[in-house]
Amino acid sequence: MCFAHAVASSGVTRRSVLAAGLALPVLSAGTAVAAEKPPFVIAGVRIFDGKRVVPCGHVVVAGGRIVAVHHGGRVPGGFEVQDFSGCTLLPGMIDGHVHHTAPARTDAPRFGVTTELDMVSDPAWHGPYREQRVSYAPTALSDLWTAGWWATVPGGWGTDSGLPIPVFKPGDDAAAFVAARRVEGSDHLKLALEDRNLANGTPIPVLSAAQTRALVAAAARSGMPAVAHATRQELARVALEAGVNGLVHLFTDADVAPDVIRTALRANAFVTPTLTLWSAFDSAENPASAAVVRDPRVAPLLSAKQRGFLETPWGFARPGVLAQALRNVLALHRAGVPITTGTDAGIPGVAHGVSLLVELELLVRAGLSPVAALRAATSTPASLWGLADRGRIRSGLRADLVLVEGDPTSDISAMRGITRVWRNGSLVNRVP
Ligand SMILES: [Zn+2]
Repeated sequence: MCFAHAVASSGVTRRSVLAAGLALPVLSAGTAVAAEKPPFVIAGVRIFDGKRVVPCGHVVVAGGRIVAVHHGGRVPGGFEVQDFSGCTLLPGMIDGHVHHTAPARTDAPRFGVTTELDMVSDPAWHGPYREQRVSYAPTALSDLWTAGWWATVPGGWGTDSGLPIPVFKPGDDAAAFVAARRVEGSDHLKLALEDRNLANGTPIPVLSAAQTRALVAAAARSGMPAVAHATRQELARVALEAGVNGLVHLFTDADVAPDVIRTALRANAFVTPTLTLWSAFDSAENPASAAVVRDPRVAPLLSAKQRGFLETPWGFARPGVLAQALRNVLALHRAGVPITTGTDAGIPGVAHGVSLLVELELLVRAGLSPVAALRAATSTPASLWGLADRGRIRSGLRADLVLVEGDPTSDISAMRGITRVWRNGSLVNRVP
């Protein structure tokens, strides 16, 4: 269809593409740069560029990067042409709330999630994630930004996990706590604002408002974003008033209050609602997740690890939390608070990669348009987290790309039909 629309091309030549490939940034010592694959064109596709939809276009990839984007017109000559008429091309997606479980981060890219933002994990597990995320070499792994250990108090949320989590005690120096996380490799600071055990409801100690303010201010002084776990509105309010960059869960104990919306807007704070998590809490059957993972386009691609997470029950149900979360997402979205996708992958009921497809469907069920949901997985988090090389389909950016059969910009469930994923311009093997 698109090829028939040939008009004058934009003048991109093989020479200009090769020159762009040669202009790859110089990377840190020890980082392999590979541009083995010859330049190629993904042709005849609907493009969701991270913000808007281009009905038909062609994307030229070389040296791990997008080097040209044509909105219609003739397919540029001189390259290997891969014609995907009838499909939609999207930027690689960003899961804004995962827990890193191993350096072999292959499950996420197989489902189009090329960047993962970890929200608590043991820094000893991470591997060479910093080198990888600036490299354009072919890789099967997601890129990682990590919180490392989070900020919690003695006896607070997470301290019963058996992991060697450092704690923030009364009188401790917030700057020293943040500096220690930075030495461990943390990219951002995560604060645990949870005053009850989520599994059994018993009260637990939590950071005070003063401690929260001190930690958020210390993070800001050191140039680290600060984000908060809060599942009750009262504690979300504490976090927002302290100036966090975002909430990485959405509270489900009440309708979102006008003052909370005002504070979020004033602080330009974002919300990562983790509807997928609330869906897992809501019922053991978890129909939203089950519909995706049992889809014949999805089920054969699940790894044993993904199945393990998805099939592990919480052992309780909280009917109503998902409905409350859906209402709150819509209120925040309508008010203009940025929404970003996150799943909480790495905990029971949620799996890396595939669960982001569930999150997208739940955002649309909440009332976001499919395009708004896709922005929440691409350009919005890229912009808010300062990830300038990704989240859009634009010349010069990293060639993390997702090809989908059909049109997810009008029917979000089409995301179940991902057919190809490129990481740094190289095809990802989707077979687990
Ligand atoms: Zn989490």
